[in-house]
Amino acid sequence: MNKASLILLSIFFSFTALAQKEDSLQIKTIYNIALEEGHAYKNLRSLCKDVGARLSGSPEAEKAVSWAKNLLESYQFDKVWLMPVKVPHWIRGDIEQAGVNGTAMSIKTLGGSVSSNGRIEANVIEIQNFEELATLGEAKVKGKIVFYNRAFDRKLISTGNAYGACVNQRWSGASKASVYGAVGVFVRSLSHLKDKHAHTGSMGYEEGIQKIPSVALSVQDADMLSELLKTQPNAMAYLNVNSQTLADKDSYNVIAEIKGSIEPDKIITFGGHLDSWDVGEGAHDDGAGVVHSIEALRILKAIAYQPRYTLRCVLFMNEENGNNGGKTYAAVAKEKGEVHIAALESDAGGFVPRGFTMDGTEEQVKQMQSWEPLLEPYNLHIFKKGWGGVDIKPLKSQNVPLIGLRPDDQRYFDHHHSDTDVFENVHQRELELGAASFASMIFLIDKYGLGTPPQLKMEKE
Ligand SMILES: [Zn+2]
Repeated sequence: MNKASLILLSIFFSFTALAQKEDSLQIKTIYNIALEEGHAYKNLRSLCKDVGARLSGSPEAEKAVSWAKNLLESYQFDKVWLMPVKVPHWIRGDIEQAGVNGTAMSIKTLGGSVSSNGRIEANVIEIQNFEELATLGEAKVKGKIVFYNRAFDRKLISTGNAYGACVNQRWSGASKASVYGAVGVFVRSLSHLKDKHAHTGSMGYEEGIQKIPSVALSVQDADMLSELLKTQPNAMAYLNVNSQTLADKDSYNVIAEIKGSIEPDKIITFGGHLDSWDVGEGAHDDGAGVVHSIEALRILKAIAYQPRYTLRCVLFMNEENGNNGGKTYAAVAKEKGEVHIAALESDAGGFVPRGFTMDGTEEQVKQMQSWEPLLEPYNLHIFKKGWGGVDIKPLKSQNVPLIGLRPDDQRYFDHHHSDTDVFENVHQRELELGAASFASMIFLIDKYGLGTPPQLKMEKE
């Protein structure tokens, strides 16, 4: 190597070193603000206590829209607006009773379930999966309550994977059982935690099937019922719920932006979902994601960061029972021909952040992995291909790389969709670390991009 190239090479390395030093200082500043003078925790308290649980279509969800709009406006971002979204309107009703041999069990009606139209009394048949149901057939199932009792696999390290392996009982259990003449469904709550709080969540009916009511049993009650059925297979259970689906309602995604200083027409979208189930306070799911997203935009403004691209915080409506906010956002983006550099989502709780997963190309994942040295000092170690998020998923068809914040997931399903998903179960420092991690990833994507935006590549071809 001659002298000139050596000099060039050393200039290149000192530039790189300088850029890295600048980046690490910027990230340090982001963390300092989140941890010393953060707003995430107080904003979460306000969302949980002043608004509370906020299921799509409810008056509380509308209150959440105003709450978010007012808060975003108070930060004086470049633009704040509401994007109309049609949402389903399901209500739990005021009767939620089930038991066996006269002993009450702790239940939650599943979202979307029909009413039982009064008290049902029937024998119970416990099963683990749909294959077993098919084997038993009408002869053993007709006239009974089908009890799906497949538990989380304790050997799986990822609780998300354990959830994924059980969630079909909740979503399609009623339709599958109805085919064989069942009159109702009990589903074991989707959680490792053996407590008395049942966990709700969405379910759906297949077209043309007799709709039967479906409820979740607390894990303790599922275990109790299973034990009891071993000695008393003819035990008599009862079920009485009066939930119903009303006409769709008008609602909104709530959006705020800081305009890009170099390429304002290209967008980095990041967000969480504003709606929650109608139990607890939607603190981890997804109050945490809402305040992470607001805080990321607030911090980047507070440090007077001039983004290259437009930074857009989107608080999606209706993730829980329809994802109409996410679908509408993607449809509007397509209609307007918007170019998204990336979409990020925080919808896995307010627990200590571990890193990020990306639903994108190998090249994009590698680009994210190249930032690990900058984020490793903050105990962020997960940088791999994986899940982005439900709300941002509809952008996938526009080839947008999707990135999910990955907090530790061991306790997430303890609280998910249950009465215990409340502000008190979110840890201030863990929440703040999540906000800082989210803001840092947005900063790095804005500064370095993720390769040519795929939409532009497609146009060139
Ligand atoms: Zn969620």
